Formats: sequence, structure tokens, C-alpha cells
Amino acid sequence: MTWVSDAETIVGGAGAGTTKTGRAGGRLDWLLRMPSEVERAHERDFGAERIKHLRHAIIVGLIVYNIYNLTSLHLMADIQPFTVMMRLCVLVPGSLAIFFLVPRVPPAIRELLLLAGMFVASLLPLYLLYVSASPYASYTLGELPLVLLFGNMLLVLRFRWALLFTTVTCLTALLVIQHKPGLDPNLVFPLTVQVVTGLFFTLYGNWHVERQRCLTYLAQYDAQNRADRAERRGDELRDLTLTDMLTGIANRRHLDETLDAWLATRGDVLLLMVDVDHFKAFNDRFGHVAGDDCLRRIASTLSLFASRHEGFVARYGGEEFTLLFAADAETGGAFLADRLVRSIRDLAIPHPARIDGIATVTVSVGYAGTGENRLRDARDLVIRADLALYEAKSAGRNRSKAG
Ligand code: GH3
Ligand code: MG
Ligand code: MG
Repeated sequence: MTWVSDAETIVGGAGAGTTKTGRAGGRLDWLLRMPSEVERAHERDFGAERIKHLRHAIIVGLIVYNIYNLTSLHLMADIQPFTVMMRLCVLVPGSLAIFFLVPRVPPAIRELLLLAGMFVASLLPLYLLYVSASPYASYTLGELPLVLLFGNMLLVLRFRWALLFTTVTCLTALLVIQHKPGLDPNLVFPLTVQVVTGLFFTLYGNWHVERQRCLTYLAQYDAQNRADRAERRGDELRDLTLTDMLTGIANRRHLDETLDAWLATRGDVLLLMVDVDHFKAFNDRFGHVAGDDCLRRIASTLSLFASRHEGFVARYGGEEFTLLFAADAETGGAFLADRLVRSIRDLAIPHPARIDGIATVTVSVGYAGTGENRLRDARDLVIRADLALYEAKSAGRNRSKAG
């Protein structure tokens, strides 16, 4: 089996195509079939357009095809009523049925329906030619390449079906030419050459158009995949620069950006500064690895707390965290801060090294908000929350204070 590799050249890619890498370009077999995932993508992108084109072409083809009713009046006078009846009772309803079904069936069936329709359109006149005793009947062979032209170049059957359609029609036509009773022997060779070359030209045209369609789409598909991958990689990198490595929550940079954005776009902004109590003693007692685990548990609890109240949480640094809420400090500050202190206390992480009589890990919280007559300034908000945190510490820890 040979593989056409122009798409690789067009897009400058290399290697075999897989869904994972998205390098489907270059994978076009000699029957001009694209990998199935690319076929599906092509159908998504161009299916509707093809259906529209097909329905249009079917109507045009039907009108033109029925004009041959008039030519058969002269060329097959002996069976003219029969030819008209076959066209009107077989071909017209069949074509209208295909016209109806084309937008309603899966793409693979749609293409097979077209093939079936074209077989009827090309084999019927050959049959009529065979049974007609008119001396002029062989002139109807001139219509055959036009029928092929319609199927291969106007409907643009998929190349594999165009190949099958052309081959079967060609062989049938040759059989008819060879075996038609009463055909002038001098006509056999010229008619054979005319039919074969005429049919070959339409098939060659189909191959060219189909190949171009596939290669262009494969190149487009690859380019789109590369763009998507680059965008995803960019997003991942950006996520990394905004994420705290230890806890997986937002980092200080992300906090700064979010706080600025909230101050610029939202109404009330409430900022909570959270500090783990006596954490140095925790580390000294259990080691830094256990200290890290403790910080991760606190971070995930704070994260849950924030999402429950439509807030935002970040690790400010060390054992300090910051939370933002779209809330008023006067009405919602104490409520949120106290619940937050409780949620960490409820984790009941043992902290036997404390000297203040509490045996579990706790946090202290200072909060400040953008009330009336307050600066909507990030720095001011942090300084006030920080001062309040200092007060909470001085007042005995495991509590919150307003700034
Ligand atoms: P206070 O109640 O006054 O806040 O006392 P504290 O001991 O928590 O405060 P201090 O500032 O004296 O100590 C903070 C400790 O937090 C010291 C440092 O070892 C620890 N720490 C900071 N970052 C990390 C970290 O990423 N991992 C671990 N395990 N410990 C950390
Ligand atoms: Mg601290
Ligand atoms: Mg501390």
C-alpha cells in the first residue's frame, strides 16, 4: 500500500499520525481515505455544506437527465415509451428519495446512496442501448461520459466509490459494445476507445479534486491541532505560574492579580488574612514534612470554605493564607471569619507542643473590607487585615478580629 505524504510536506510535519499527537496529516491511503478521526472532523466542518451541494446537484442532474428522454425519441424510437417510463418511474423517484435521505442518514450511508443512484443512472441507459434495435442506438453511448462526469465531478463521489462506479460502468459498457446484436463491427474499436478515455478522464478529475480536498483538510486539521496544543501548553504554563507548589492552591501572584481585578470590578470586597498559630512549635515537634502535610490539609479546608462562599483563597506565603469574598466587612466579616476559625479547629489536628492550653492546630484571622469612605486599594486592605491579625494573635489566637 502506498501512502500519499504531501500533507506532511504542506504542514512541515513528520512521523506517523496518531490522535495523541494530532499528526494525522500524511495519512492518506491510495484510495484517498483519511484517518477516521479526521473524517469525522471533516464531516463536522463540511458535512452541512456537502449536503447542500449534493441536493442542489441532484436537482440539476435530474433536469438534465430527463432531457435524454427527447434524444431517445430519435435514437431509440422502437423503445421510446419504455425509456421514458424507466426514467420517470425508476430514476426520478429514486433520485428524489436520495434527495430526501441525504441530510437524514449517516455520512457513510449518504455516500453509498449516491453511489447506488449513480449506478442506476449509468447502467440503465446501457441496458436500454442493449435492448434497442434502433440503428442509431449506439449514439446514446455519447451520453455515458456525461453521466460519469456528473457523478465523478459534480457530485464528487468519494474517490473509492468513484473508482468502483467508473470501473463497473466501464466494464459493462465494454460488454454491451462487444455483445450488442447488430452493432456495426467498424464501431466497436472507436466506441471502446471513446468510452474508456471518456470515463478515465472523469475518474482522473475526481481523483484530483478528492486528493486536493483531503490534503487541504489534513493540513488544516494538523494546523488546528498544533494551535490547540500550543494554547493548552500556554494555559498549563500560566496555571503553573499562578499555583502554589506545596498546596496546589493559588499563589501570591495569583492573589495580587485577583485582588486587583476584584477591586476594579466588584462591589464590596472582604479580605481575610489567616495565620497558623504556633506553627514553628508544630514544625519543631513533628518535623517539616509533617508541617507541610498540615499546611496542605489547612489549604484544602480553606479551599472548600472559599468555594462554599464563592470566595477565593491563596497562600500568601509561609503559614499564611489570604481569602477574598464579595461581602461587606460590617455585615459578613465576623460571620465568615469566625466560621473559618472554627472549620480549622474542627479538623482537630493534634498540636501537643502548644503552651497555651489548646492541644490542636488553630488559626488566627484578621479581616478588612472596602466599606464606605475606604480606599479601594489592595495595599491598604492587606495592611488593615494584617494589623487585625496581629490583634487576634495578641488577644490569645484561635480567633478573628476586624481591621
Ligand atoms: P504565631 O502563632 O505567632 O503565628 O507563631 P508561629 O510559630 O506560627 O509563627 P512564626 O512566624 O514564629 O513561625 C512560622 C513558622 O512557619 C516558621 C516556619 O518554619 C514555618 N513555615 C513557613 N513555611 C513553611 C512551609 O512551607 N513548610 C513548613 N513545614 N513550615 C513552614
Ligand atoms: Mg506567620
Ligand atoms: Mg503563625
